[in-house]
Amino acid sequence: MPELADPSLMRTQAFVAGEWRDADETIPIVDPGKNEPFTEVASCTAAEAEEAIDAAEKVLPEWQEKTAEDRCAILAELHQLIRDNEEDLAKILTLEHGKPLDQARGEIRYANSFVKWFAEEGRRAYGDLIPSADAAKRLLVFRQPVGITVGITPWNFPSAMITRKLAPALAVGCTFALKPAQKTPLSALALAALCERAGVPAGVVSVIPSSSASAISKPWLEDFRVRKLSFTGSTEIGKKLYEGAGETIKKISLELGGNAPFLVFDDADIDAAVDGIMKAKFRNAGQSCVAANRFIVSKAIHDELVEKLKKRIEDEVVVGYGFDEGVTLGPLIDEVAVSKVERLVGQATDAGAEVVVGGKRHDAGLNYFQPTLMTGVDPKMDLTCEEIFGPVIPVMSFEDESEAIRMANDTPFGLASYFYSQDLARVWRVSEALEYGMVGVNTGLVSNAAAPFGGIKASGQGREGSRYGLEDWTELKYVAMGGLG
Ligand code: NAP
Repeated sequence: MPELADPSLMRTQAFVAGEWRDADETIPIVDPGKNEPFTEVASCTAAEAEEAIDAAEKVLPEWQEKTAEDRCAILAELHQLIRDNEEDLAKILTLEHGKPLDQARGEIRYANSFVKWFAEEGRRAYGDLIPSADAAKRLLVFRQPVGITVGITPWNFPSAMITRKLAPALAVGCTFALKPAQKTPLSALALAALCERAGVPAGVVSVIPSSSASAISKPWLEDFRVRKLSFTGSTEIGKKLYEGAGETIKKISLELGGNAPFLVFDDADIDAAVDGIMKAKFRNAGQSCVAANRFIVSKAIHDELVEKLKKRIEDEVVVGYGFDEGVTLGPLIDEVAVSKVERLVGQATDAGAEVVVGGKRHDAGLNYFQPTLMTGVDPKMDLTCEEIFGPVIPVMSFEDESEAIRMANDTPFGLASYFYSQDLARVWRVSEALEYGMVGVNTGLVSNAAAPFGGIKASGQGREGSRYGLEDWTELKYVAMGGLG
């Protein structure tokens, strides 16, 4: 186990209603890099989920009475504390998730950028004064906090997927109870410890780990006091929660799965495109909702791009344990994930695709897969229809722009997309034609706290980050003020 400068950040108790609690049962937490359990975390039940909401209800008036200035000062303190403890938080993250330590540091900085952004943006939850057709009336629009809110987050970014919700919730005056992924609750609990230190009042934030996700989500879905659910995870679970939230007409944000296309046109800077592919694929071992999943390349440059990509992968990608120096590609989260990637690659090769690099499990351990490049892939293969969530680059080719766009949009998903082109008119045309919430043009990275992150179609609804991400945690109230003539 890595040594922490502040061992008290490694919390294994749940944080319920402002108290650290043990539970009757525990969840074993596994280091994916070694495939060995290294600690256990309290596993909560419906009772704690309900208690978190009771506490939120009690503290809500006090929390909402604070000025935006006061709440944002607490968030600014949280931002500073995350900065001061960045190395410990990164080590906890690598331990429970497996990603290389340098990428874990990057995730903590990225997570903290949302805290900073909303500590500033929280002061700007402006309303409106609408010009009235009646001289005796004034028409006002207020933005008010939604109230008691809950979040459910996945394991792939154990810290950043939380701060994108927690920071805007707190900034506008909502309370926030979280069920983190059961594989990665330690980063969430460390954040809770820092919230407490930053001066977040008891009950405003709760973190409820559990080995039974539905034991926590059921009481939250049924409780009318809970006015918003913000979920990040798979489309399959998102659909269930969408339906469940209908019972009490909750406001809902859904950040779901993707199937990102990465298009390279014949007028692209090929070296820049290869660079973008390396970033859009291998970060987090491909386990990202915005990871490029299908590579759609102009026939005219296909062979040159594949050759350059092969060389970059062979020269640069270093597979290994996340704490080892120089490693750039860590393990997948578990053996089930490795089996899925193995199945997708196997089916594709059986159907005629060709492996150019990799294609197999990696001998670094049970949870590792080789960085893989494949050509001759067909758009109907499971490899290009499902989220791979692994380090595999399947390359397809196209003849002309309209075919490329048709292939890119031929999916129920609509989260991130990418393309490389140096033709200005094409850049506009393709940006407008792609049916996605986010488009990266000549870049393999789109995430940024200042920008609206989110998808359309089966990839969800709502936005995180940016001023739109703040609005998602507020309700509009219209006030007609009469008798003023
Ligand atoms: P998941 O299986 O949907 O789990 C996400 C969260 O939902 C976890 O906390 C999980 O708890 C919980 N959950 C599972 N079943 C539930 C139920 N019946 N009721 C309530 N909660 C339930 O997804 P994952 O495998 O952790 O994450 C990968 C997925 O997340 C991918 O599809 C990825 O694309 C998506 N994702 C999307 C975004 C985005 O911003 N659009 C960002 C990151 C990830 P347990 O941990 O206990 O199973």
